[in-house]
Amino acid sequence: MPGPRLIAPHLLRLDGTRPALLGSRCSACGEVYFPAARGCTRCGGTQLEAFALGDRGRLWSWTVQGFCPKPPYDGAAAEADFQPYGVGYVEMPCGTKVESRLTLADPARLRIGMAMALVLEPYRRAADGTPLHTYAFMPLPGEESRA
Ligand SMILES: [Zn+2]
Repeated sequence: MPGPRLIAPHLLRLDGTRPALLGSRCSACGEVYFPAARGCTRCGGTQLEAFALGDRGRLWSWTVQGFCPKPPYDGAAAEADFQPYGVGYVEMPCGTKVESRLTLADPARLRIGMAMALVLEPYRRAADGTPLHTYAFMPLPGEESRA
């Protein structure tokens, strides 16, 4: 059975159905980039290798997107039925901060430093009707009640 179809397959690696963020790492200095970069802005190196950032991180900062984004946003939600969603930076174990959608948009349930897990979320449908997924971070079970 094929795994879920991704809107941006170059950003993720699927191990079965479990996603991991995919970036690159500079062979010379070890700097990690997400999305993957071709050149290192830290040392000027041009040798970068694929690097999996994993599927766990900590919420570093966040906000709630309260209005429909302008183009090139191409999500399913039209202006009329737009639902606010959370956006945040999640610090991965390697130290790189990744901008991501959050599964929650409730300020009372989000807390800087909470442990987050990478999940796939339906984003919109392809022209042939196949659901396309994007990645998002959700708080690990138990994290919300510790707020
Ligand atoms: Zn470098």
